[in-house]
Amino acid sequence: LFVDAALGEGQSVDLTREQAHYLFGVMRLGQGARVALFNGHAGEWTAEVAEAGKRGGRLAVLGQSAPQLDPPDLWLIFAPIKKARTDFIVEKAAEMGAARIMPVQTAFTNSERIRQDRLQAHAVEAAEQCGGTFVPAVEELQRLDRLLEGWPDDRQIMFCDEALVGAREVLGAAGGGKWAILIGPEGGFSDSERKRLQAMPQAHAVSLGPRILRADTAAVAALTLWQSTRGD
Ligand code: SAM
Repeated sequence: LFVDAALGEGQSVDLTREQAHYLFGVMRLGQGARVALFNGHAGEWTAEVAEAGKRGGRLAVLGQSAPQLDPPDLWLIFAPIKKARTDFIVEKAAEMGAARIMPVQTAFTNSERIRQDRLQAHAVEAAEQCGGTFVPAVEELQRLDRLLEGWPDDRQIMFCDEALVGAREVLGAAGGGKWAILIGPEGGFSDSERKRLQAMPQAHAVSLGPRILRADTAAVAALTLWQSTRGD
């Protein structure tokens, strides 16, 4: 269970109404039951149900059960698409160990607005589901051109586009430990965005295969290829 609280032996954690409903209503836990907790940066902790109510409750933290494990330093940058598909991208990126999830507005972005809080909640649920102790930060929507303006020299971009070179080939050959994956919207990238990226030494245009994948499929394919080539 993710809790927005400091974790330490003897600490007491108050539960929100939703957490109480999940633990006591859905999971049917009662007083004395053990619960695994994490807050995103302090590993996993075992706690005991001290008070169980319909609208809230309290957990008593017993001790640490696993150290903090952070994912590789990988960012996922993508242009948001339809709501359900954007939710899917965030959920899968969190499950697959992206450290930062960055929605961007591109020339052909289909969606001009996102609900960052909703997407962050999806990332929390995904981390809970896969037993991780890390929750990636989902950022507010920002413009791709602005993001590229201040792009760090030491971070490579796996720029997913119509390219002649396969992702494995590029990822295998390119140096540098820090990476970002960039996925375009349904309409792809504009000519000026392509030119801009092609001029950046950090950006490597890669193909994900001969078929045009939907953006959500492309995000999962790119994350998988990155994980299998460079991840740990
Ligand atoms: N008509 C668009 C175009 O001309 O690029 C297709 C866009 S595709 C539906 C959405 C995004 O997924 C693309 O911008 C790209 O980032 C990624 N993508 C999909 N299939 C890909 C492939 N075979 N290789 C590389 N990237 C791909």
